[in-house]
Amino acid sequence: MNILVINAGSSSLKYQLIDMTKEEVLAKGLCERIGIDGSNIQHTKVSEGKKVKIEKEMKDHGDAIQMVIDALTDPEHGVISSMDEIDAVGHRVVHGAEYFAASTIITDEVKKALEMCTPLAPLHNPPNIIGIEACEKIMPGVAQVAVFDTAFHQTMPAKAYMYALPYELYESDKIRKYGFHGTSHKFVSQKAAEFLGKPAEDLKIITCHLGNGSSVSAVDGGKCVDTTMGFTPLDGVVMGTRTGAMDPAVVTYLLNKGMSAKEVDTLMNKKSGVFGVSGVSSDFRDLSAAANDGNERARLALDMFTYSVKKYIGSYAAAMGGVDAVVFTAGVGENDAATRAEIVSGLEFMGIKIDPEKNAARGTVDISAADAAVKTLVIPTNEELMIAIDTKQLVEGK
Ligand code: ADP
Repeated sequence: MNILVINAGSSSLKYQLIDMTKEEVLAKGLCERIGIDGSNIQHTKVSEGKKVKIEKEMKDHGDAIQMVIDALTDPEHGVISSMDEIDAVGHRVVHGAEYFAASTIITDEVKKALEMCTPLAPLHNPPNIIGIEACEKIMPGVAQVAVFDTAFHQTMPAKAYMYALPYELYESDKIRKYGFHGTSHKFVSQKAAEFLGKPAEDLKIITCHLGNGSSVSAVDGGKCVDTTMGFTPLDGVVMGTRTGAMDPAVVTYLLNKGMSAKEVDTLMNKKSGVFGVSGVSSDFRDLSAAANDGNERARLALDMFTYSVKKYIGSYAAAMGGVDAVVFTAGVGENDAATRAEIVSGLEFMGIKIDPEKNAARGTVDISAADAAVKTLVIPTNEELMIAIDTKQLVEGK
């Protein structure tokens, strides 16, 4: 069974064709500058590992999907002989609001509900929906599945997802915590249970997705009970360019000073985080290099980041009444051993202790010290594979 995974953005579209009999990526790529001058597709046939770049006008997402099909069936760079070899399409959708607590096969009803989620993700959901409609047109009869960034977090109890605003705002505008990166938290928490050889139902896991955007989740018995991102991805840990949690009165202060709502939004999402504090970069490799060269603001930014993740690990252990495993994933979580070590330093009192030698390893590894009561794991995330797994299960009716 071959599943095409699509992640459509406003002017870009990422794709992977995955052979689910072996969970193997056959081809992957990216369409860029859709609807803009200079549109192109970058396509890789994985078995050959060579990326080809084809410049061709793509005036909309329909053109982009057609380009993807053409690349996948191309006699030279392709991996299938015709579109008929695509059994289903899994679409990443950012926001499923309270309508979707799980991935779902797309029907007309589902599309109506997707439209209703749009006010909560006005920049992200519309291109996701356009991508779905383009696939429906070009591949009629092929099952389409939506997989949501928010769905895994829908199991949070009200005490975790409600904000202490007047209740009417929840009723009228659905203002509450939703959480994001759910596909990743679900994937790595399931992989952690597999790795530990225990049923997910018996485990309390804290998953730390640390990349450019970062979030931490508490997963109790396989279900998310709390997560750090909120109504939007701005909340929680300090990020590459986002503030993370802070006193919301800073916003009103800046507005009163004369900044526009749009300027404050840009400031908090694009100019803050470790980038804003350091003035150096949002990339942790640059930050570490600068900090090691004696740049104090780079050191401060890194300290703020690790301190904020550490505090959430502590609070989620409290929320779950214990923790069996801490999992690190995503760009920073998978690759930055020094940052991992700093995050867990001082948590020995909770049974969290890593082995410096094991911490230097790559891939899926147990980095815990031999005498640690809590397992600390590094598990590479794979959101595309998770989307394909959910899609396969749904089309097979499981
Ligand atoms: P995104 O949120 O954009 O998906 P990723 O999960 O790909 O982000 O993470 C990107 C970040 O990972 C980069 O900004 C960089 O800081 C960090 N990163 C990647 N490789 C390394 C590395 N070897 N050491 C430290 N940080 C790394």
